Amino acid sequence: MQNILDPLHGEVNASQPRTHSSVPIPRARRSISDLLAPLEKIAASSPNLVANHGAHFEVSGEAYEVPRYLFVGPKGGGTPIRLGLFAAIHGDEPEGAHALVQFVKLLEARPELAVGYCLSIYPVCNPTGFEDNSRHARSGRDLNREFWKNSAQPEVRILQAELVSHSFDGIISLHSHGGSEGFYGVVRSLTLTKHLVGPALKAAEIFLPRDEHDFIEGVPARDGVVHDSTDGGLSTPPKAHPRPFEITLETPKAPPAYLKEFALAMALRSILVEYRKFIAYAPNL
Ligand SMILES: [Zn+2]
Repeated sequence: MQNILDPLHGEVNASQPRTHSSVPIPRARRSISDLLAPLEKIAASSPNLVANHGAHFEVSGEAYEVPRYLFVGPKGGGTPIRLGLFAAIHGDEPEGAHALVQFVKLLEARPELAVGYCLSIYPVCNPTGFEDNSRHARSGRDLNREFWKNSAQPEVRILQAELVSHSFDGIISLHSHGGSEGFYGVVRSLTLTKHLVGPALKAAEIFLPRDEHDFIEGVPARDGVVHDSTDGGLSTPPKAHPRPFEITLETPKAPPAYLKEFALAMALRSILVEYRKFIAYAPNL
């Protein structure tokens, strides 16, 4: 494509209309601190929630962090169940981040929902993408294709270190999908489909219908459940044994924000209830 030199604005593309406003206007960044303010407030006064700052990294000289919170539920019978909850690894999917904020508020109001749990919560896994409202990080990479591949992306390295050090019993990732018409779940282990994802989709259905299509994202689906095959997706360490459960919850993009957030929060609540029951019956699975 041929470029011409504009004496005022440097090189501009000849195929684009030349206007006096061709100097790029910096777009306002979405605020992470506004998003997290309710969690910081709860953490400041609640014994249940700890804000764990310190997962710092740098992008072009600017300081960033992967925000981390720990919600410790009331003691249950056995050793605490450790779950990791992850959102906004795709920066243009803020629904999950807001849903985690709502979920923590719910747990703070009703801690008994988290009896026996220790929840590590990562509401913004891709801070630069979240600020820019872009799927990719500012490096241009899709972070959800970088896991366990010796990635140089600092966010991925931080999250991998968390995944190793916490030895989660299960992880749940929240996403939203522009192409889908309903709520759906993605699982790695089919064993848990019936026990966890089915009830989670049912709980979400109060707010958003599930995607009943035979194919979702080009993958065969049944009752709103897809079997995961994403290479490099946010997942537990390849050698983790026993294998933790891994669930991705996906809302459609189109519905109003409050419906998406409630649907995700209700699905999470359901998974806490059902997993507690599940391990009580099947401790060695
Ligand atoms: Zn996504």
